[in-house]
Amino acid sequence: MNQLKYPFSTEARETSLKLARDLGDLVEFVSRPSNEYIVREAEERVLAALTKSEIRYPSMQDERDVLVYSTSRLIVESIGNPRLRALQAVAEEKAANKALDKEDPESLRELCSTSFRWSIESMGDVGERASLPLQMRTYEFKIRFENFLEVAPMIRAPEWNLINRFLDRGWVPIRRSELVRLASGKFHQIIKAGRLDLPPLSERLAAAVERLGAEMPSHLRQLEPLKFEDVEQSAFPPCMALLYAKQKSGEENLPHFARFALAAFLNRINLDRDEILKLFEQAPDRHKRVIEYQVDHISRKRTSDDDETGYVPPNCSKIISQRLCPVDNQETFDPLCEYILNPLSFYSTRYWEESKNVTNHSWYANKWEKKQTF
Ligand code: SF4
Repeated sequence: MNQLKYPFSTEARETSLKLARDLGDLVEFVSRPSNEYIVREAEERVLAALTKSEIRYPSMQDERDVLVYSTSRLIVESIGNPRLRALQAVAEEKAANKALDKEDPESLRELCSTSFRWSIESMGDVGERASLPLQMRTYEFKIRFENFLEVAPMIRAPEWNLINRFLDRGWVPIRRSELVRLASGKFHQIIKAGRLDLPPLSERLAAAVERLGAEMPSHLRQLEPLKFEDVEQSAFPPCMALLYAKQKSGEENLPHFARFALAAFLNRINLDRDEILKLFEQAPDRHKRVIEYQVDHISRKRTSDDDETGYVPPNCSKIISQRLCPVDNQETFDPLCEYILNPLSFYSTRYWEESKNVTNHSWYANKWEKKQTF
């Protein structure tokens, strides 16, 4: 195995450090005319992430190739857009996953052990595993549960929940493909959590940053905030539809909790800040600066280091307890309300149904259990 192609490997990190001790060195090194190809390939690597194309690893014939990844990280952090960092994490994870999948089991075990300091042991070859209980024979490795838990909770499928796994004195048996998934997932986390102390960029690097920055709007357009005309108001849950109508009419002052719930809901469905402000300025007791402060406070709540996605609207139970749920108040009815726990789930489900012209709602009962609120 050529570990150099895996940026998270000890070998790649040591080689990078040998060529450039810090980011200032890196900028200087890749700006030398003979090393210009590194910036070009790093720029292509970021573009591949941005356009959701496949990242191709350099050949690693030359150890300088190891700096293509570091330079691509430098470019992304210099652009400073969390969404681009997230795209980079996804693209790098996919590339690592694909490459790791081709590695032989022992090299894979060795790479994961040394790169992430994970305790992983082989369960033996097929012949040796033949003496194990039947359900254990498909597991090539076992990993310490604390290492398993570094990544597994981020993966949604039920088999990644520790409660659904065999656990033998702190060891979790895993398949080869699962170890690949854990390793690439760990790499994803490393990129998402990475923050760099940025040095001044060379002209060549600054030009790459500028070019990619200019490319971004066309690829991230779908993530821009929506205007009211883009929002499917017919997919609003009854509670939000009612609060929205009251707020829009400007005839009464909504209680603080109702305003918070509505603002958080509108922000989470990605409505543009100015549109939300315009709506709240309809209130009889409007104070522009207070409204701006409150809307910004609600929308800037960080849900992770990267994402300022804002507060989640209160759950149905809380809305019900405030007597703001028109279904619970028996003013209206919607079958979906019997199954969801938060207005956002209502919106995403109904939005999907409307986009697919699904008018028969009987599938709720097949898929979900009724909640106990009603
Ligand atoms: S059940 Fe939940 S989503 Fe439906 S109206 Fe009541 S609070 Fe809103």
